[in-house]
Amino acid sequence: MRCPKCQAENREGRRFCAECAKFIDWKNYRLGRLQSEVRTEYKKSVFE
Ligand SMILES: [Zn+2]
Repeated sequence: MRCPKCQAENREGRRFCAECAKFIDWKNYRLGRLQSEVRTEYKKSVFE
């Protein structure tokens, strides 16, 4: 799991990034990734 701010690799379950100490909200992070994947799939199905 990468920090959304500095892209440092962090062990899953950490609340703060090891590099920049940013608070990481994994629940929203996963949700955001899921939504962007869904959008990518949607675009593919529209434009192909
Ligand atoms: Zn970071």
